[in-house]
Amino acid sequence: MNKTVHIIGGGSAGLILGKELSLMGIKNIIYDSKRKISDNSAKASGVLSKSGLGALGIDYKDAIVNELIGADIYGRSESMRVKSNSTMAYVLDRGRLAELLYENAIASGSEIILGKRLSKTEILSLNNGSDIIVGADGAISNVASAYKFPEIKHYVLTYKAEYSNANILDKNMVSLHFNNSILKSFFGWTIPYSKSSIEVGIGIFSNNKTSSKNAFAKFIATERIKDILKGSKLNGAYASVIPLSTRRKTVNGNVLLVGDAAGQVKATTGGGIIFGGICARIAAKSIYEHIKYSMPLSNYEYEWRKINGRDLTMHRFFHKYYSILGNTTMDINIKMAKALGFDGFFSKYGDMDRPTKMLKRFFLRGFSE
Ligand SMILES: Cc1cc2nc3c(=O)[nH]c(=O)nc-3n(C[C@H](O)[C@H](O)[C@H](O)COP(=O)(O)OP(=O)(O)OC[C@H]3O[C@@H](n4cnc5c(N)ncnc54)[C@H](O)[C@@H]3O)c2cc1C
Repeated sequence: MNKTVHIIGGGSAGLILGKELSLMGIKNIIYDSKRKISDNSAKASGVLSKSGLGALGIDYKDAIVNELIGADIYGRSESMRVKSNSTMAYVLDRGRLAELLYENAIASGSEIILGKRLSKTEILSLNNGSDIIVGADGAISNVASAYKFPEIKHYVLTYKAEYSNANILDKNMVSLHFNNSILKSFFGWTIPYSKSSIEVGIGIFSNNKTSSKNAFAKFIATERIKDILKGSKLNGAYASVIPLSTRRKTVNGNVLLVGDAAGQVKATTGGGIIFGGICARIAAKSIYEHIKYSMPLSNYEYEWRKINGRDLTMHRFFHKYYSILGNTTMDINIKMAKALGFDGFFSKYGDMDRPTKMLKRFFLRGFSE
């Protein structure tokens, strides 16, 4: 197995891919522009479902900062509570998670070069026609543009800030706020880290005239968020971007895309670690089968869409649905959902990652136990 896999990007997708390839005995080199693997990790949040984490085969326990049992969903004047009896998801420290994934990849045998941002020319020159190139370089992917992959059409611009001494009512509940007048086509959120520290963030569609920072300022001025942040201390604020659709193609000859670079993200919430990580594992298997048995690399495209395509499409459908609702219609939808008993159903059978699983149960058994 004398081919080398060059992985551009040492985020969660690149590090999971590197580890998996090393375990299969395939030489791989991961390049990342960060000097320290945990740099920039505060730009994103770390809410991951317990079940999704189980599918990644990673050691994440050391990164847990909080446990979540549910979510309060707010429209303008209506709200709905989805609450389970047990832990549904964890809040992970993204910096610590990056370190754990890095240590795992190194321990398995990956070579990791930090502090090197590869230009498009350098990315093209890595390609000797026989080695394999993987773009795991995030939402704005140099690999994708160097190799002329189809574009990602929709993005969400995000802004989040972290506060201590906040007034948190329930440290195990996140809150989601839908307000299409200020948070166009996405939503705002609060994620408690502990009894007194919290993250507040927003996303807006990239075709907006306003900036994410402006939208954030309006969001924290709303009554509900003002109450939470009264007397709190701001510890840091960060802007970033989330891809909202998958690329039409993610394999081009000996070049593959994984994670945010491929758009393997839940369009409902922007969460991409689970799907990106699952796809990275699928990529590792396809690369192994290509090197060992000369199977086509395009099997990766087929396999990841077969396993995740329907769920990702459903996330896009739900995102489209809520993104066109005005504040009044969102309130009506929340009211109707409660009247029909969906809050109880989601509390019991809700699945943050796999809506197809939840819908299958609903259509087979309805609200029955
Ligand atoms: C505000 C916000 C909140 C989020 N919350 C969640 C959440 O709660 N749960 C969840 O699952 N997901 C969440 N996400 C999404 C999640 O962060 C991403 O899906 C995930 O980080 C994608 O991993 P990745 O490895 O594909 O890309 P990235 O994490 O973007 O990693 C790409 C890496 O490539 C490197 N790189 C880029 N270009 C080059 C280059 N030319 N040369 C060398 N290196 C390069 C970068 O330094 C970076 O380390 C959130 C995102 C945002 C913005």
